Amino acid sequence: MELRKDPITRSWVITGDDVPDSAPRAESFCRFCPDSPDAPQLVSKMPGVGGGPWSARAVVHPTPLYRIEGEPSRRGDGIYDRMSAVGAHEVLVENLRHDRQLWMASDAEIQQFLLLAAQRIQDLKRDARFKYVSIFKNHGNNAGQEFEHSTSQLTATTFVPRRVLYELRAGRDYCKAKERCVFCDIISQELQQNQRVLEVRGDFVALCPYAPRVPYETWIVPRAHEAAFERVGLARAGSVLDLGALLRRTLQRIRTVTGEFHLVLHTSPNTQHQSKSLDYWRTIDDDYHWHIEILPVVAGKAKSYTFKEVYYSPVTSESAVKLLRGAKIEG
Ligand SMILES: [Zn+2]
Ligand SMILES: [Zn+2]
Ligand SMILES: [Zn+2]
Repeated sequence: MELRKDPITRSWVITGDDVPDSAPRAESFCRFCPDSPDAPQLVSKMPGVGGGPWSARAVVHPTPLYRIEGEPSRRGDGIYDRMSAVGAHEVLVENLRHDRQLWMASDAEIQQFLLLAAQRIQDLKRDARFKYVSIFKNHGNNAGQEFEHSTSQLTATTFVPRRVLYELRAGRDYCKAKERCVFCDIISQELQQNQRVLEVRGDFVALCPYAPRVPYETWIVPRAHEAAFERVGLARAGSVLDLGALLRRTLQRIRTVTGEFHLVLHTSPNTQHQSKSLDYWRTIDDDYHWHIEILPVVAGKAKSYTFKEVYYSPVTSESAVKLLRGAKIEG
């Protein structure tokens, strides 16, 4: 696998014919369960909740897209840029129990999972090679779910992924013009209008964005300005309990519409190391604001389409919020 940069959009893609075999193998055991005979290499684990040996843990992905060893060795190829697929690729096991998904777990269990995510980001940002750490979850066949066990995934990359780069550029431009954070402004208007707010819990808000890319798209955002997720996670463990509860309740709501979704954490890139490209982003702490995006995969009439490169969502966020607010959820 190697990384290639699109010279027009300036975004990196990972490509190669040596595709790791990720087809689900018919195994009689689950490698992420505690008693697995073929457990992947352990990276980190969180203390057990309610008597278990652990609550959440990070392991090396069994068929990683990125390899931890080596240097990115960025090089030219005529007008193009390429580099080696150096990075980290981990599976974050959300729960000890095979089928205890985030929307069924206890708030204390989800808290441990979120704290694990924060710790992994902080740890990987110590590595000067890594510019960004992504955490994401694909659930359901149409969303590209890879493992049956309740898991998320993490990648640490030598570049900032495209969507985050767009957000960073937009946040910086907005802040330059208005001297305010665009996310803070969105949150304050949404709370005031109260047309697209799904739920407020402690320091966090769940809302359907004004211009959704897919029906029932939902964001979870901290109300107070903060660029880096791991800082909230590690400084205020108590507020992570609220975040976990809001995440659980939001996923329960979305599951009344569809069982399949993509979830991604957007947080600030690695600013701990001086680098030519990152020097550009000296204002990140002021103009970026971490958040979780949930993109449901909806079948049938409400299915979303991206035709002619324009997102089309047949459900407005105002209608989405009405339906999701009224959804029957537990706890
Ligand atoms: Zn399992
Ligand atoms: Zn902000
Ligand atoms: Zn985002």
